[in-house]
Amino acid sequence: MKTVTGQDGNFRVTATDRSGKIHDYCAKKVIVSTGYYDLANRLNVPGEDLPIVFHYYKEPYPYYDSDVLVVGGKNSAAETALDLWRHGARVTLVHRDDKISPGVKYWVRPDLENRIKNKEITAYFNSTVKEIAENYVLLSTPQGPLELKNDFVMAMTGYQPPFDFMKSMGIQFHDDEFHTPAYNEQTMGTNISGLYLAGVVCGGLKTNKWFIVKGGKTRAIVKVLGRGAIFLTSSLFTLASWMFWALFNLLAFCAACFTVSLPCRMVASMLRRILPFSTSTQCLAAGTNQLRAAARSFTLVRAPLYQRRWRRSCSHP
Ligand SMILES: Cc1cc2nc3c(=O)[nH]c(=O)nc-3n(C[C@H](O)[C@H](O)[C@H](O)COP(=O)(O)OP(=O)(O)OC[C@H]3O[C@@H](n4cnc5c(N)ncnc54)[C@H](O)[C@@H]3O)c2cc1C
Repeated sequence: MKTVTGQDGNFRVTATDRSGKIHDYCAKKVIVSTGYYDLANRLNVPGEDLPIVFHYYKEPYPYYDSDVLVVGGKNSAAETALDLWRHGARVTLVHRDDKISPGVKYWVRPDLENRIKNKEITAYFNSTVKEIAENYVLLSTPQGPLELKNDFVMAMTGYQPPFDFMKSMGIQFHDDEFHTPAYNEQTMGTNISGLYLAGVVCGGLKTNKWFIVKGGKTRAIVKVLGRGAIFLTSSLFTLASWMFWALFNLLAFCAACFTVSLPCRMVASMLRRILPFSTSTQCLAAGTNQLRAAARSFTLVRAPLYQRRWRRSCSHP
């Protein structure tokens, strides 16, 4: 979507397709729900444009047995660091704050903190990247400059909504630090009659304000607009797919619990008969840790195979 002009009942929307061909559309109403992942926050350091630096994380296999620097301390950085480590990369995390963000999902944060505590992932807090080169990175840490051997950089430093695109439509913004667009909280309508906002784009730079639980507002928009609106993007689709996955995972989890719990309970009751309660609980906890370690070993055995297959399928590093 390139431009939106016009007014309520008579909008003109210009878009380009993959081949760059221009298409014009007419719409009575327009909803802007362009998210905030298309513009990454840059580090603005020398070497950031090297092909070893990525602002989007897709898969772990290219980075098996490599030194990877993950920049950031929020959800994207946390999940990227853990996934890379689980698939055999040597991960270093650098974060400008003094700890992992409290906003990181509560089931991800302790996992990352424990990997750092166990020195499985090296972390530098209160630190920033100063320079990136082909095979090293230069960090600024509280102990002074630090040069690290490095192969790839995952700059998970956040994203921001396409403010220029929104301004080009004439949308007004509040004069606040988050650059929040002005809209009516009941109708989601902007200052331009017939033009509405939906999804995280409503939060400006405060993107975490709009989480999945806010989906009710997206539903409200449909009631207001009725037919004839153009959905610039897929807010509702995103919500529906999250709900589908949540249900699917819940069912899978219940099935797994049922399958696993029966033998576990049998073992636990046997242990309880022969050992004091605390000892049998410790045995089960130790067993769980062994299972987790076995799962990671299994992943690491498969990682080089996946990496070879991945390399055959594309010419990426
Ligand atoms: C790793 C990760 C984990 C996450 N985990 C969770 C979670 O557990 N729970 C949760 O609630 N949220 C989570 N999120 C956030 C969630 O993905 C977003 O909040 C949600 O997708 C926002 O929905 P949206 O429809 O507003 O924008 P998006 O889903 O980002 O959709 C925007 C769409 O608009 C398109 N677009 C942008 N500009 C244009 C244009 N000019 N023309 C046409 N199309 C355009 C984009 O390509 C994109 O397809 C996670 C995000 C990431 C990256």
